[in-house]
Formats: sequence, C-alpha cells, structure tokens
Amino acid sequence: MAQFIEIKTANPDSLLFYRMGDFYELFFDDAEVAARALGITLTKRGKHLGEDIPMCGVPVHAADDYLQKLISLGHRVSVCEQTEDPAEAKKRGSKSVVRRDVVRLVTPGTLTEERLLDSSANNFLSAMTRLRGGSLAGDSVYGLAWIDMSTGSFQVAETDDQRLAADLAQISPRELILPDTLLQEADLRQTAEQLGGALSPVPRAFFDSSTAADRLAHYFGVKTLDGFGTFSRAELSAAAGILAYIEKTQLGERPPLDTPTREAGAGRMLIDPATRANLELTRTLGGEKQGSLLATIDRTVTGGGSRLLSSRLAGPLINPDEISRRHDAVEFFLENEMMREGLRQTLKGAPDMARALSRIALQRGGPRDILSIAQGLTAARAVLNQTGSVSATIPAEVAAARASLDAAPHALGEELVTAIKEDPPLLKRDGGFVASGYNSDLDELRSLRDESRKVIARLQADYSEELGIRSLKIKHNNVLGWFIEAPTAQSEKLTSDPARFIHRQSMAGAMRFTTTELADLESKIASAGERAFAIETEIFERLAGEIISAGDAIKAAAQGLSILDVSAALAKLAQEDSYIRPQVDDSRAFNIVSGRHPVVERALRTSGGESFVANDADLGPEEEEQTGRIWLITGPNMAGKSTFLRQNALIAVLAQMGSFVPAASAHIGVVDRLFSRVGAADDLARGRSTFMVEMVETAAILNQSGDRSLVILDEIGRGTATFDGLSIAWATIEHLHEINKSRALFATHYHELTALSQKLDRLSNATVQVKEWKGEVVFLHEIVPGAADRSYGIQVAKLAGLPSSVVERSKAVLSQLEEQDRRSPAESLIDELPLFAALTPTPSAATDSGEPDLLAQELDTIDPDDMTPREALEALYRLKAAR
Ligand code: ADP
Repeated sequence: MAQFIEIKTANPDSLLFYRMGDFYELFFDDAEVAARALGITLTKRGKHLGEDIPMCGVPVHAADDYLQKLISLGHRVSVCEQTEDPAEAKKRGSKSVVRRDVVRLVTPGTLTEERLLDSSANNFLSAMTRLRGGSLAGDSVYGLAWIDMSTGSFQVAETDDQRLAADLAQISPRELILPDTLLQEADLRQTAEQLGGALSPVPRAFFDSSTAADRLAHYFGVKTLDGFGTFSRAELSAAAGILAYIEKTQLGERPPLDTPTREAGAGRMLIDPATRANLELTRTLGGEKQGSLLATIDRTVTGGGSRLLSSRLAGPLINPDEISRRHDAVEFFLENEMMREGLRQTLKGAPDMARALSRIALQRGGPRDILSIAQGLTAARAVLNQTGSVSATIPAEVAAARASLDAAPHALGEELVTAIKEDPPLLKRDGGFVASGYNSDLDELRSLRDESRKVIARLQADYSEELGIRSLKIKHNNVLGWFIEAPTAQSEKLTSDPARFIHRQSMAGAMRFTTTELADLESKIASAGERAFAIETEIFERLAGEIISAGDAIKAAAQGLSILDVSAALAKLAQEDSYIRPQVDDSRAFNIVSGRHPVVERALRTSGGESFVANDADLGPEEEEQTGRIWLITGPNMAGKSTFLRQNALIAVLAQMGSFVPAASAHIGVVDRLFSRVGAADDLARGRSTFMVEMVETAAILNQSGDRSLVILDEIGRGTATFDGLSIAWATIEHLHEINKSRALFATHYHELTALSQKLDRLSNATVQVKEWKGEVVFLHEIVPGAADRSYGIQVAKLAGLPSSVVERSKAVLSQLEEQDRRSPAESLIDELPLFAALTPTPSAATDSGEPDLLAQELDTIDPDDMTPREALEALYRLKAAR
C-alpha cells in the first residue's frame, strides 16, 4: 500500500493501472471511476486507515479493450508495471515488495496501438501557446504544433486571434495541450472545448520560449535547428511544449518524429469551426461519419490514404499551381484506368507501414509490425512497376510519389520477407516468428527440438513394450515437465525398480515417473528452446534496428503510397459519379455549370427516387469589374435552397483540395475563406439561443470576409420578430455588397429583400421553380433568375399533414393580411433609405481616430534597460491608469 500511494501521488491526474500478476488493479477513487466507466465489478481489498479499500481490476491480456474505452471517454491512464522478477524481490527478503514503476502514460493524443486507433483518421496531439505581441494593444500570436505519434508527422504553425479557431478546427486534435493559464480564459476555453478532444493543461514552463530552440535541438540530437528551416518564437515554443509533454507521457522514450515542418496556415482555405460543422465536411451535424462529404467521396483503399484524404479535405489549398498539380494526378489516373485498377488492387493488400514503423521505433512493435514493413515494401515495389509503364508523361505529383517508392530500402524489404513467417504471433515473447531457412543455427535448434519430440515418442513406445503397459504415455505439463504416466493398477513394474523409474506424483488412478534418460532429453529440449528463443530475439532486435535506421525512407515510401491511393481514389470517384476537372485560378470567377450536391445526389441515387436536378451558379464579376456578385435566392421551404447553397460551397472545397467536382464545368477563382451560416441549432449548453448563435456567426462573417471569400448565408434573421429579422438581413446584404465585396449566396424567405436588387448593382435575384398543380405544390428544384412570387407556406404545411381545418383557416387569415398590405413596406424603403456604405464610415476610417497616442508618447520616454524592477512596475501602473 505504501508503494501504491507513493506511485499514485506522483501521478495524480490519471487513473493508475497497477500491475498485480496477471491483472491491472485500480484502487480508491480510481477504482470507483473505472468500475463505473467500464461496467466492471467494484470490490474491496484490504483496509487503509481502518476503511475498506475499493478495488477493481482488468486482466492484462484484455487490457487494450479497457484502455480504449477509458481513453475514448476522455480519461488518461498511467500504466504501472512490475519492473523486476518477483524472484528477485524474494531474494531481498521475504517481506520485500516487487519493484514497480509507471512505464507509460496513455492519453488520447499519444496512442500507437493498432487496436486503439482508427485506421482512417489521424490521431493528432496538438499544443497551443500564446505569446503576447510587442504592441501595447496586446496583439497576440499563437504557436501551434501537432504530431501524429502513430506516424511521426510533426507540424508547426503560427496564427492569430482571427484564425485560431479555424486553424485548430482544421487540425481537429484528439488531445490539446495548452498552458493552464490559457485554459482559465473564458473565450480560449470555449474555443478549445469546441474541438471536442481531450484538454490537457500543463504548466507554462513547458512552453518557455527562451529555452525552446535548445530543447528542440536536444530532442533531435542536433546542435542547431538551422537545418530544419526557420521558425518563429511562437512556433518554437509550441514545438518545445509538445515535446516536453511527449517525454512526460512516454517516460523518456523518444518516439521517432519527423523534423517539424512549417505549415503556413495562410496557404490553406480558412474554414471556421461553424462553417466546417454546417457543411458537414467530415461529420454530419449529428456527429456521424456516414452522410458527411468525406464519407461520400472516400474511395481510398488504405488507412494511410484515407488519413491523407481527410487531411486534404480539412485544409483545401489556395495556390492554383499546387491545386492543379493534384488535379493532374487525378486526371492521369482517370485516363489510365487499367493502371489505376491494378494499383488499387495492390494497395488493398498493403499494410499500414507508417504506424507499424512508429510502434517498432517505440519498442512496442511485434513480429507482425515487421511483417507489415516487409509487405509494405513489397507493395511499394509492385506499385512502382505498375505505374511506370506508360507512354504519356507522368504528372509531377505521381512522379514524386514514385521517386519515394524507388528510394525505399528494397534490399531490407527482401530480407524481411525471408526473415518473418507468413502468419507470425502478435508478440515477440511468443517466439516462433522467424521463418525457417533464414538462420541455420535456429533451424538446427528447431530440428533438434522436433527430433527430440520424435525421440520421446520412440521412448514411449519402447517403455510401453518393455513393460507391457499399452496405456503408458509420456506427457508434459508446466509443473513436472516431461513425465511417464501409467495406470496405478499396472504401475508395479515401475515402482519395483525405483532406481530407474523415479516416482514423481500419484494421481487418482495413475502414477507419474521420470527416468534419467527422459530428464536428459528434457533438458536438451528446454535448452534448445531457450537458445532458439534467444536467436529469434536477437534477429528481431537486429531487424528492428535496421528498420529504424531506414525509418525516413520507409516513411517517405508510405507517404508515396498514400498519395497514389488518394489520387487514384479521386479518379475512381470522378469516373463513378461523373465529376469533372475544375479550372482554378487567381481570378474572382465562380461559374458552376450544372452543379450537383455530392451527398444529396448520392442519397437520391441509392434511394432510387427522383434524380438530382443540376443547377448553375455564376457569382463572378461581370466583364471588366473585379468584384464578385451576390445571388439572393427566394423560394418556398423544401424547394432546394439550402441544397443549392451548400453544393456550391462543397464544390469550392472539393476543387481546392485537389478533387474533381460534380458539375458539367466549373471555373473558380481561388476562394481564400469560406463562410457558411446555415440553420444553426440551439446551443443550450452554452446558454445561447438559436438567434444568438446565428448573430455570432453572422458577425464573424461580416468582420472577416473579403473580396476573395465565398459566403453562404441561409435564412438570416429567422429567429426573431419579422421586422427585426428583415432589417438585419437587409443590412447584412448591404454590408456584404458594399464592404466585404465577397461572392455570396443568400437564401431568404423575406421576399421584401428582392427589392434590393434595384439598388445594389451586383445583386441578382434567383428563385427555385415551383409548379402549382390542382392546388398542390410541386418542387422542381430548378434555380432560375427572378423572385419568388409567393412563399407557398400553407401548401407546404398541408404537405406536412397539418389538419385541414387549420390549413383552411390559415388561407382565410392570409388573404385578409394580403388585403391590408398591398404595397410592401420594403418597396418604399428602397426609395427612402440611402445605401449602407453612405451611412457608415468604412472600418479603416473608424479605427483611425487621428488622436495623438498618449500611451505611445509615454512609452517613448521609457528605457527598460535603464530601470529597476520597481520603476518598471510603477511605469506599468502609470500606463494602465492613462488608458
Ligand atoms: P429549402 O432549403 O429550400 O427548404 P432543401 O434544400 O432543404 O430546401 O431541400 C429539400 C429537399 O429537396 C432535400 O432534402 C432534397 O431531398 C430535395 N432537393 C433539394 N434540391 C434538389 C435538387 N437539386 N434535385 C433533387 N432534389 C433536391
């Protein structure tokens, strides 16, 4: 108990799995938490300070499953092992306790076990830190670092207040590490919680920026970081923080990581968390994978490919050259169908090399991981051959991937193939994984072992015949080893010759003996087994060492396979679902001809109902102008407005992540930021009503959107009184048109807004066509120029099954209302209200007040190098008071 308490005290913020023989046991509060979470029995074991100690336990062989459950519930687990043989402890004295120590801290972001990981998703551990900028206004920069320990990828980036939430959402970490002080700030806490991963606050010192570069260099065993590129202070601080956390959780083991690369956040399309959620990029609003864009387009056949596709989707590019490089690769596999299908067939059988490599390097690998590397390298060679034989030029992306396959350690691969048996055991300690024919000493020992078995069989036959006991057997168990067993009734011949047949055990009905002959054989077998195991272990360690030294090349080859998998998969998708290559450039165009919604189209097709109606969208500038346009779409509920809005946003995402798109043609000027606000749900957990959520999201759009952005706004102002809502929608459109100058699609049920097109030259009205037939509405789902004449609300309500008395009554009320309101108030507004821009100064003018900046003047007089700490503090008070 003293030992337990000591270890528990050192690991207070995790559940302690305390190894006791074949079980991990948990005590006290840990036991109560785990028993509830795992649904296992809570019992008692011993007493502490006179009280029963609550206890529960899980068997070691099944521990992974329990770990997985606890981790997925957001717990962290310290695994405490026995670090010596119990026999050693006995030698120290009968009372001494087996030494134990925590060997690993398992957290959601540091998993490597195949069974605990989702093969198609990255498992990012991410760190975030903030450096207060130099200015008094407190401009902050944030450093981000993220690592997938299961593959070794390591990236860093710098970001700011505006981009922070979007950048974190792009990474979508399973676990976020941040200084505990940041977690105490309400808005940062909210941003972090929104990500849905585990939050792990750590002391600020983890992120100390003054020592960060040294700590990073130390981790990678280099003198200076110059060879890795240049990093900002914030990036270094985040990188050092994440490494400190990894060293803490892996207890000194250093997982093999790529050297950090800089991911310029500015090189990706900015998609904030609300937009990501609304567009259901990787999950539906209900949290399901099924029905998301990712699930709909994913045709990859490997885990690595699936992870790459998902990260490309999370961060679409904004550089037209990079984008078209990806399109080239897709086109190549679209044109070379035979090659593509052969490639996919090969990849299907290829194991996850990146993750196997990582386990091997972390000393957690087993024979199957070595086999995975062997088979992965074999696949790499096959793929190299399959993709080489074309007359057409090979596009750059494919060529680069092939180069990394070519550079893979193929000789090592061949050795591994000959070294490891086809279906090896999971664990190294089970032995028997080295293939026969690989090592002659091992083969010899094995045949000795097999030979000895034959000798035993012969011995049994000899004894049986000599003694005339037909049922005499030579058997083996773990307690006695090999022994002769004869029925008690016939054992007389043996007992009468005790010099030869040494009695070992009497059973009910049988007696057990041994002989010198048998004992000799037995020790021969045992030592052959031990020596064989020693050789196998040695082979394992040597091969593992070679794999680790070739780690970078293996990783690059794994990445090459993933890239080919993704390109081939996107080509497959394009072929199956008739996607075309979009033209993406630096213009402000957004011209989609016959666009379709990838997910809705698929859903309609599989349900076998009506087919999807394709629609055009053209938001590009007219003629010479450089500014995009806004479409205002009116039409009844259920007509297809939201579908149209979303499909255009999804087409932009698909095009810029490097995919073909569901349309007849598409010309897109790169979209740098994508915003969507579509039917939010109440966020009661955070005490915000639908309307509040909607306004927060709209505010974010109006504050951040620019002339290269694409904005999708659906039913703004629905959650409040009609006139409030109409007014807000009105002003929002004006702001988008005059100030943001974004390309935008705006769906609304306020018909009054269509009047705005008279004033705003880049605003066009569009509507969804509806046919009335015998008093019923028929939705044609066709977007055409013009404004809807009526909203058909009552017809839709009737379709929904509202009682006919209520339907009739509403018709009567409606005609009364219409009678009173012949002329729409909005029509008159157009004449009376000047334009938005004329009312408000532009934001830049608003901030530039022209006042002399007193703080700046005061600051100029200060020289920090010439002050005592006390004087500095006083100056700080003075500055604060002046503010
Ligand atoms: P609204 O936003 O106008 O209320 P939705 O976009 O939600 O309408 O569309 C309602 C339903 O109509 C969708 O669930 C879909 O099944 C169908 N739909 C929408 N657009 C199309 C289309 N272009 N082709 C075929 N069916 C469509």
